[in-house]
Amino acid sequence: YEGFRNNQKVTVYDEKLQHKIQYRALIEKELVEAIDNHDFKIAYQPKVELDSKKIVGVEALVRWNHPSLGLVSPSVFIPIAESAGLVKEIGRMVLNIVTDDIQFLKDKYPKLQHVAINVSAPQLDHSFIQILSEVSKSKDIDSSFIELEITETTFLDDLERVVPILNNIRALGYKLAIDDFGTGYSSLSYLHELPINTLKIDRSFILSMMDSDKGLKLVKSIISMSLSLDLNIVAEGIEDNATGMLLSELGVQLGQGFYYHKPEFLNEKVITKLQN
Ligand code: C2E
Ligand code: MG
Ligand code: MG
Ligand code: MG
Repeated sequence: YEGFRNNQKVTVYDEKLQHKIQYRALIEKELVEAIDNHDFKIAYQPKVELDSKKIVGVEALVRWNHPSLGLVSPSVFIPIAESAGLVKEIGRMVLNIVTDDIQFLKDKYPKLQHVAINVSAPQLDHSFIQILSEVSKSKDIDSSFIELEITETTFLDDLERVVPILNNIRALGYKLAIDDFGTGYSSLSYLHELPINTLKIDRSFILSMMDSDKGLKLVKSIISMSLSLDLNIVAEGIEDNATGMLLSELGVQLGQGFYYHKPEFLNEKVITKLQN
């Protein structure tokens, strides 16, 4: 990059930064093609009732397997798609696939009560409301079966714009969850003003709960606050039985994590069988 030192223009070559910029540019270019080719798949991760371990929900997680780069994680390509203005198109594809899969999911998991879809803050505009309204009509889907998960950090600085959109989405019957709750360093005071149904406690808190008394106190206070606001709670990133049991004792009903189930693709054989 270029800067000034002692009024002298200097150019510093930062290899790492350069590499990062090139990688982003590559991903961005490849994403455009992947969108054209519909190269995305959806993996579903079950959510369980902690007591019974029964599957009562699933979360749709987008997967992109690039022909030469291999599997690129959504935590890498979604932020790039967001800043490149591509996330709305990806989001539309995800919504299409998931709404087409709902019947298979219901058949596969008899106790299923909801399907969750992750949504990025830049998707939250009037065209998205239009899309949501059309999809539930055209596919005859009960909108209250779908819960949209929005990451806390991405919309906190934009509440004035986002809250009316969230209200519109709720008016259509869709449910709303705050994802990665606790990572936004937010004051808790805005929570009761949001039209949300569910709080997902971020994995980092679930980890620190098992490691320190402070961590435990923090999770306890998140839980009591959620209960007093009448919000459902989901704990994410549960990797062992002890964690799940403790959360259940603390009053958390739903959990998600590798200990119970990893994200998995719907078995295509099952799909063809059901279609015939
Ligand atoms: P998220 O919505 O918080 O999803 C949870 C992530 O944690 C997923 O990673 C999941 O595979 C992983 N995970 C689940 N259980 C465990 C566990 O026990 N241990 C550990 N270490 N990890 C666990 P994934 O699929 O790589 O997704 C990363 C993030 O990308 C998601 O975080 C979400 O913010 C975003 N994302 C994924 N799919 C979509 C999508 O369709 N649209 C949008 N806008 N964002 C998406
Ligand atoms: Mg999520
Ligand atoms: Mg999460
Ligand atoms: Mg998280």
